[in-house]
Amino acid sequence: MLELLFLLLPVAVLYGWFIGRRESGRRSGFFHLRHRCEYAAGVNYLLNDEADKAVDILTRVLPLERDTFDLQISLGVLFRRKGEIDKAVRIHQNLLSLENLSQQQRDEADFALAMDYLSLRVYDRSIPVLQRLLKSPERKKEAAETLIRISEQLREWDRAIMYSEKFRDLLSSPERVKALANYHCELADASAEAGSYETAVEHYRRALEIDPKCFRAIFSEAKLYLAEQDYTAARQTIDLAPEAQPDCVMFCVPVLAACFHKPESSPEYVRILMRWFAVSFSAAVASELVRCLMSRGNEGGARKLAIGYLRENPNVLMLSRFLELVGKSEADPEVMDTMNYLVSIIEARFDVKDKYCCRSCGYVSKYLFWRCPKCGRWSTVRPDDRFVSG
Ligand SMILES: [Zn+2]
Repeated sequence: MLELLFLLLPVAVLYGWFIGRRESGRRSGFFHLRHRCEYAAGVNYLLNDEADKAVDILTRVLPLERDTFDLQISLGVLFRRKGEIDKAVRIHQNLLSLENLSQQQRDEADFALAMDYLSLRVYDRSIPVLQRLLKSPERKKEAAETLIRISEQLREWDRAIMYSEKFRDLLSSPERVKALANYHCELADASAEAGSYETAVEHYRRALEIDPKCFRAIFSEAKLYLAEQDYTAARQTIDLAPEAQPDCVMFCVPVLAACFHKPESSPEYVRILMRWFAVSFSAAVASELVRCLMSRGNEGGARKLAIGYLRENPNVLMLSRFLELVGKSEADPEVMDTMNYLVSIIEARFDVKDKYCCRSCGYVSKYLFWRCPKCGRWSTVRPDDRFVSG
């Protein structure tokens, strides 16, 4: 239905134009009988909900001239959205062949044509047009945004950074800051993969300068130090993450644990976890603290912490840890088996560790994407509260 409405909008505009043209045509003799017949057929198609045929016929009747510029542009966009991109290209190219267009109209037709080529993924045609439009006062912003989008599609991160830096003031938004930090993270990941450790660290640091809350930069840099067995640097780096992004602290716990030889018996490890817990009230951190207490033989403390947390924040992760705790401290093998069975059911049912959700569009995934595959926004996919802390 929405699609039909969309189709009808330009046709309605055309209808208005024809009414005006018919009136002036009557006076000037312009509106020929043949045009009138075709126009009547077009309206007839329109009334019978056959918008495609209506648009086709009205396109034929519509003369190519400066006065019909806006209508031609609308028709071209309509064809592009319908997937008939060859027709859109033809309309926009024809418009550009008109000699008496204003510069503003020429830029608009150029932009429409660049978008047609982009729909066809013919980047070598759309990019030069968009680069030219960077000088157009009216089209500069859209051209810069589109060039950045193309750079993202082509994974040309250096180019995406160049355009983002150059047009930083024009495109200023929190979303753009996140995107720019992620471009540096992309370059850092590629450098790390190629073994260029120092370049990777430089890019992660630059990402953090741009966006001090960039969890990806902190997390990835810490993991890089871990891979290099620099445990002190890994611990110091990952310790920055919970304050930057408290809802992602669940990913930091295993990284922190890997920095210690025997984490559960390290007072420093528990001290850091306690600090993270105060910042995030995270089920993952509470669950790890319960595990530390259990491994130290402090089952009473572990049970108290688990029950206290569950009362405050009923949560499947902590429930599963609590049942595990009850099962382990139970002498009766049947009760122990039952508890273990319940833990396996809960973990299978809720898939506790693998639920992520985009905060922007609601896309749910089993994987943590740095960029949402559905809406294309950066740093919006996070652990799903319903499973992790709700
Ligand atoms: Zn999304």
